[in-house]
Amino acid sequence: MSDHSTIEWTDTTWNPVRGCTKVSPGCKHCYAETFAERFRGVPGHPYEQGFDLRLVPERLKEPFKWRRARYVFVNSMSDLFHEAVPDRYISRVADVMLTADAHTYQVLTKRSRRMHDLLKGPLAAHAAASHIWWGVSVEDRKHGLPRISHLQDVAAAAVRFLSIEPLLEDLGEIDLRGIHWVIVGGESGPGARPMKREWVVSIMEQCKAANVLFFFKQWGGVRKKKHGRDLDGKTYDAMPLRYHRA
Ligand code: SF4
Repeated sequence: MSDHSTIEWTDTTWNPVRGCTKVSPGCKHCYAETFAERFRGVPGHPYEQGFDLRLVPERLKEPFKWRRARYVFVNSMSDLFHEAVPDRYISRVADVMLTADAHTYQVLTKRSRRMHDLLKGPLAAHAAASHIWWGVSVEDRKHGLPRISHLQDVAAAAVRFLSIEPLLEDLGEIDLRGIHWVIVGGESGPGARPMKREWVVSIMEQCKAANVLFFFKQWGGVRKKKHGRDLDGKTYDAMPLRYHRA
C-alpha cells in the first residue's frame, strides 16, 4: 500500500496504530473506519481486522527508511492517544519522531486530555521538538472547543494546530491564543453534513485578526471534487514554515 497521501496538508501518512473507536460527533462518518471495514476478513490485508484497534510495531521504523524529508500525518487511520494504546507504545512512536528528525510530524487527536497529560509529563522532550507539530480536532462547540484549551496548555510545543474538520456548526468566537495554524474543511462522502460559508469566513477572519495561519482544505459534500477548495475565489494554503520541505 502506498504511503503517499492525497490529504492537502501533508505528504505521507504513517500508521503505527490502526483502528479506533468513536468519541464525538466528528467521528460519525469517519473515513478511516469506512476504509478499514471494507477489508475486514480479507486474509493478509493490513485491515483484515477492520477498524479494530491494533498496534503495528512492524511499522515503527518506517520513517527511518524515507530518504527525502516529508510532512508526515501520524495515525491518519487511528488516534495515537486512544485509551487502548499503552503509554509505553506512545513513547516508542514519539521516540521515532524525535530521532528521525529529517521529517516534520503532524500529530492530531481527539483525545486531547491524554495528549496534554503525556506532553506535560513523560513526553516533555518530544513536546518541545520543533519538527513535531501537535494538533487537536475541533468539529463543534460542545466537544471540539474544550480540546483547544488542552493544547494551549502545552506551552512547550513549537507548533500547535487545529483541524476544524468536519466543521459542523458555527463555532462563534474561538480562543486562538497560542495557536499557530488552523485547517478548516467540510465533511465529504455519503451522508456528508453541510457546512455554511459564513461559518468558514468567521474562522478565516478570526485567524487573520489573530495572525494565525489559515488553510482551507475543502468544502466537502457528497462529491467533494465538485465543490473544490476555493473560498470566495481564493485558495488558502498557509502552513507553518519548515526548513526542509521535500
Ligand atoms: S477519533 Fe478519528 S480515527 Fe477515531 S473514530 Fe473518530 S474520526 Fe475516526
